[in-house]
Amino acid sequence: MKVMFIGAHPDDGESRMAGLAARYIERGGEAVLVSVSNGNAGHHQLQPDELARRRKEEARRAAEVIGGEYIVLDHDDARLTPSVEVREELIGLIREFRPDLLLGLRPVDYHADHRAAGTLVMDASYLLTVPLVRPDVPIMERMPVICYVYDRFQKPLPFQPDVAVAVDEYFEQKARMLACHESQVYEWIPFNGGMLDQVPEDEDKRWEWFRERCRQRFSRAADLFRDKLLERYGPERGREVQYAEAFEVCEYGRQPGPPELEELFPA
Ligand SMILES: [Zn+2]
Repeated sequence: MKVMFIGAHPDDGESRMAGLAARYIERGGEAVLVSVSNGNAGHHQLQPDELARRRKEEARRAAEVIGGEYIVLDHDDARLTPSVEVREELIGLIREFRPDLLLGLRPVDYHADHRAAGTLVMDASYLLTVPLVRPDVPIMERMPVICYVYDRFQKPLPFQPDVAVAVDEYFEQKARMLACHESQVYEWIPFNGGMLDQVPEDEDKRWEWFRERCRQRFSRAADLFRDKLLERYGPERGREVQYAEAFEVCEYGRQPGPPELEELFPA
């Protein structure tokens, strides 16, 4: 079984699907995270070229944590548009990997790049099966199931999960993956949020600080979508889940019935 996530930046997927990705790999499957942009706008001190190089290396190390792969495409950060060129590049990538499950962002988001990446996945979906589009790469005979990963945006429609998976056992790996994006989690994001002074200098203390932040962040989906967890794991285990990942089925992919949904999202 293969899962592919397509986001806009290196670090978009980790908190929302890396537990599921780790589970795929643990079961002999494959997982690829794609960043459509090279992330070269996300810093307050580095120049774009240097930042792009650094982020590519951070992404490579993040994927290594779970034994997956990170593909960072070379499009400018903060300038992503759902263009035909990028769409066809993604169609080629998706067809070559042939995922059973394709994950993306909803086109409802504060960040224009995230909206563009979400739209690109939807724009690519039907065309995955059209031979005259990207005739150099064989079509997918079977449309993958396409799902959105969790986000917190409410308008015009909030995220409505169809399935949630418990990922407690992958908490450390997920946090370590995210922590590989040092230019972001220890530098740019705290700077942008006006809290750079809260980041400890000592490496161990810094990791402790970040792991605590991950605890809060990763527990949100379990708290919000407890009903889905109870449905899936029963009242006892469902109540105890601390960290979960939730997914909403996109109407443009193959529509899975309950047995296939369970297979694609192993408990
Ligand atoms: Zn992002």
